[in-house]
Amino acid sequence: MDRIYLDYAATSPMRPEALDAMRDALTSTYGNASAVYEEGARAKKALEDAREIVADSVGAERTEIFFTSGGTESDNWALIAAAEALREKGSHIIVSAIEHHAILRTCEYLSRRGFEITELPVNSEGVCEPESLRAAIRPDTILVSVMTANNEVGTIQPVEELASAAHEAGAVFHTDAVQAYCRLRIDVKKTEIDLLSASAHKIGGPKGIGFLYISKNVKIGALMHGGYQERGRRAGTENIPAVIGFAAAVKAALSKREQEQKREYELQRYFLEKLTEYTKETPDGEEIHWLLNGPEPGERRLFGNISISLPGLTSDSMLIALNLDGIACSAGSACTTGAPEPSHVIMGMHADRERALGTLRFSIGENTTEEELAYTAERIAAVARRMIKLQRMQENGFI
Ligand code: PLP
Repeated sequence: MDRIYLDYAATSPMRPEALDAMRDALTSTYGNASAVYEEGARAKKALEDAREIVADSVGAERTEIFFTSGGTESDNWALIAAAEALREKGSHIIVSAIEHHAILRTCEYLSRRGFEITELPVNSEGVCEPESLRAAIRPDTILVSVMTANNEVGTIQPVEELASAAHEAGAVFHTDAVQAYCRLRIDVKKTEIDLLSASAHKIGGPKGIGFLYISKNVKIGALMHGGYQERGRRAGTENIPAVIGFAAAVKAALSKREQEQKREYELQRYFLEKLTEYTKETPDGEEIHWLLNGPEPGERRLFGNISISLPGLTSDSMLIALNLDGIACSAGSACTTGAPEPSHVIMGMHADRERALGTLRFSIGENTTEEELAYTAERIAAVARRMIKLQRMQENGFI
């Protein structure tokens, strides 16, 4: 069997539609979009056509979309610029405790510059409850940032209620929608989102391109200073081929979203059933104990995300063994792979170090098949049995 790629939440293979569009753009749309001659005008038109597609995908106006280098830049821009713009009003910022590091480390940066950060706890399913947000809001709260869906455990947040809680207190609401974008239906106007971050490489587009939606009602400054690109809000010559590839990926992802959601939901359930089957006690091995992290598959969980913990085993050694079996998956967020600390997301949900250290995340996508998932479930059980046997031998002094 070929390699099995189950890490779509870390990054996804390029969609053929995006590849074709980019291949063509790299040779034909090389002009600088700021130039006045024909090549520049062609690049400018491609840029604005792409902006229209992206704006429609979240119910925004074209002038509210600003292309960036990806989710990390969008998150940094949203938080830093909003904090600076609202400094007169207050210095208190609220984020959920299970945000991506692009948010949490930006908050550390802001706290070194005099802002006070509150990390909102989540419940055992990873949900950030609107009541706990209301309780944390203070008269000097200027900004609330809660992700639309979590990258490690797939929990979908009640964004509409969270945004309205923030607005009741006069705070600006940002959401990191990097994992949810083009997977869930997003309408920034209906949900009253002020700022939203998204990234192309999670949806079959190229790496190094994303956008920040900035509602026309919110006035924030720039993060990057220089030329007058993106109407003076984000300097730097536009990466036109990447923008074109991004728009092509958005179109392709949206055209099959409903059917893909249904398929991935079925695959999620199938994988969990297979895992239950393979981890049962066998004549030559004991039952493998595993736990699902996050909500049951359904409307509160991102289609395609499966996060499990095998308490007592360590993610890193399981990852290596699974890799040798041809399977690519992750220990939580890709950015923490290799780091010895337990995942802050699982710790935030369960405060259980063993559970956090034994976490595996499988994220499926359009190329994933039942056959691949059945094989993966079988290999997880086999790897876990081997590791438990090894632990027993060590405990009994055999090795
Ligand atoms: N936010 C979330 C929730 C993510 O999952 C990621 C990527 O893993 C990012 C932000 C960073 O996005 P990018 O890789 O485009 O910088």
